[in-house]
Parts: sequence; structure tokens; C-alpha cells
Amino acid sequence: MRRRVALGLGLAAALGLAGGLRLLTAPAPDIRETFYVFGTLVEIETHDVPEAQARDAMARVGAHFRQMHRDWHAWAPGALESLNEAIAAGQSFDVDPGLAQLLQQGRALACRSDVLFDPAVGGMVEAWGFHADTPPEGDPPAEAVVAKLLAGHPKMTDLTIAGTTVRSSNPAVQLDLGAYAKGAALDLAAADLTAAGITDAVLNAGGGVQVLGDAGSRPWRVAIRDPFEWGVVAAVSLRPGEALHTSGNYERYFDKGGIRFSHIIDPRTARPMQGIVSVSVLSDSGALSDAAATALCVAGEQDWPRIAAQMGVTAVLMITDDGTMLVTPAMMDRLEPVAGGFPAPITVVDLPKDVAIPVCPAG
Ligand code: ADP
Ligand code: MG
Repeated sequence: MRRRVALGLGLAAALGLAGGLRLLTAPAPDIRETFYVFGTLVEIETHDVPEAQARDAMARVGAHFRQMHRDWHAWAPGALESLNEAIAAGQSFDVDPGLAQLLQQGRALACRSDVLFDPAVGGMVEAWGFHADTPPEGDPPAEAVVAKLLAGHPKMTDLTIAGTTVRSSNPAVQLDLGAYAKGAALDLAAADLTAAGITDAVLNAGGGVQVLGDAGSRPWRVAIRDPFEWGVVAAVSLRPGEALHTSGNYERYFDKGGIRFSHIIDPRTARPMQGIVSVSVLSDSGALSDAAATALCVAGEQDWPRIAAQMGVTAVLMITDDGTMLVTPAMMDRLEPVAGGFPAPITVVDLPKDVAIPVCPAG
């Protein structure tokens, strides 16, 4: 039942497109472009679209990604950094409507997750060394630093977002959108492609994949990588409009004294979450899938079904430190074994019914 695994093998991207699985009946060749945003390569591929139309749409997406990179970056000069400085100084700050909307979305998702996902914890992420392009080296922060971060109790509901004016009642809030920015970026890119008349495309951002359009009988099929080995846990054939995101402790982390410190921080302790290797969430929203994948890592092996129900996600795969695969019925329906079956026995876990959805205070 439990899988014996060697830990500490930190592997790269959680998801990749499984090649060779689509029928090539298209009159127009597939068009592919790669973008770089928030330290991640985003690959977009269109299908059955005339090349000029595809390239034009990709150019619009590229411009949009560049703007997001500037405005949403947690540790480079830009709108978010300026907003964080204003918050620390107790001042209000005007942001662009896109960023205001993203913050509203983050505030609502934080409430739904019981604040296990909360983009206000940027100070904690920074203290653990994850505001850099390369993984941290050295020691964890001192106990006194962790205690101070915890005492600051930063949370999204400290924010008031009135139109495009943002202020915080708590100067300890430091925004870091990393846990849902990739998903939100793919949502916006998919909307750009739709607006450009593109009806069949896949957007792949290492750890997150989103599909657009009427794939019909030749769905975009993606692989969920095995976090312990260079293999594949399973494949999922994505339906139009779906987004699959994976978060975990095997991509950005550091090991010290035999302990793995992940870049996913538990806001209740101001320390990296423990016990979970990866969580994959399938839904029809990139931002929701991405935020929920992070929140469920923090929730851990016992509490994740309740948080998933609160957040309104039904298709979840969790892999724990010892290799146990926990899967909701909705995800079980969608997982396709690859090359000789699933790597470990799967335990199907029902989500609780009738959970009360937390209500976000006005703001
Ligand atoms: P990835 O970026 O690998 O897809 P995630 O989606 O889980 O992984 O996002 C992790 C990032 O989110 C961290 O690098 C940090 O910027 C931020 N973060 C860490 N912990 C939290 C948390 N509890 N709530 C919200 N954001 C978080
Ligand atoms: Mg996430």
C-alpha cells in the first residue's frame, strides 16, 4: 500500500506534454512559441490556426506577459514592489486595473482556503530565502525572525481594494503572488487567444497546463510527472477550458540537516510546509487550480479534503512524502495509467459534503 521511495531526489517540472498522442489531421501546422515570465518558460501551441493569425495572437500574449512580469514580480522593481513599499509605510497606492483584479481574486481565494493560501505572506517567503532566482543556500532564518513574522500576522483581508486604490491596515503584509500568478497568467493568455479568434491551443508553464477550445475527439493529453523519479505518474486528457496545476516541494527547496524546506510556507507557522511532495488540481480556472494546489500542500494529509471542498475544487491528486497517492473520485475518473500502470496503489478519498464556504469580510 505504501510506496518505498528514496527522498531528496528533487526533480524538475511537474508537468510536461506527452507527445505523439494527438491525431495529426490538421490542415494548418501546429504553431509553437515560448515566453519567459516569472522565472518560468511558458510554451503556447496552437492547432488548426493559420500561421499569421497564430503569430499575431502570440505577439499580444507576449506583450501581456511582459506587463505581468513587470507588475506582478515579488522581488524585482515594478508595481508590486512599489505597492509593498507603500503598505510597509502605511500608505495607499494606485495600481493598474489588472493588478487590482488579481488582488481581489487572491483575497477571495485566501478566504476560501482558510488562509492556507495567502499571498500576503511575502515576508515569510523572503525570510526563507525564496525571493531569488536560485534556491537558497545556508541556514533557515533564526527563531526570533520566524516568531516576529508570525506575530505580524499578515493576511489578504488586511487589504482594502477600492477600485484601483489598495491599502493595508497591517504594515506586515508583503504581497507575493507566486502561488497563483502562473495560473492567473495562463487564464489571461487563454482569454487573449480567444479574443484573437483562436479556438484550439495549449498553454504549458512547467507545473501548469491550460487548454483552450474544442479539442473534441483529439484532446490535449498531458503527463503528471512522478516527483520521485524521471517517470510519469499518470496522464490526463484535458477538456476545453480546463487547467491542471501542480505544486510541491521538489522544484524550489533547500535541504538542511536532513529536512527539506519547500518554498511553500505555512502561514500558521511561518515555516515551510512538511509532509507533502506534490498536489495536482484540475479545474476550469488556472488561478483556482494553482492557488488550491498550494493551499492543499499546506493543509496536509489530514485536512486537505475539507479545504478542497471549501475552495470548490473536486479533482485533486496528492502525493505524500512516503509516496502514498490520495485521489478524489473526480480525479480518479480522469487519471490514465501510463507505461505499465500507476507507480503506487491509489487511495480514493471522498470530499466532505455540505462544508460551509467561508465568507470574506468586505473590502
Ligand atoms: P510553483 O511556483 O512551483 O508553481 P506554487 O504555485 O505552490 O509553486 O507557488 C509557490 C510560491 O507561492 C512560493 O514561491 C511563494 O512565492 C508563494 N507562497 C508560498 N507559500 C504561500 C502561501 N501559503 N500562500 C500563498 N503564497 C505562497
Ligand atoms: Mg500554486
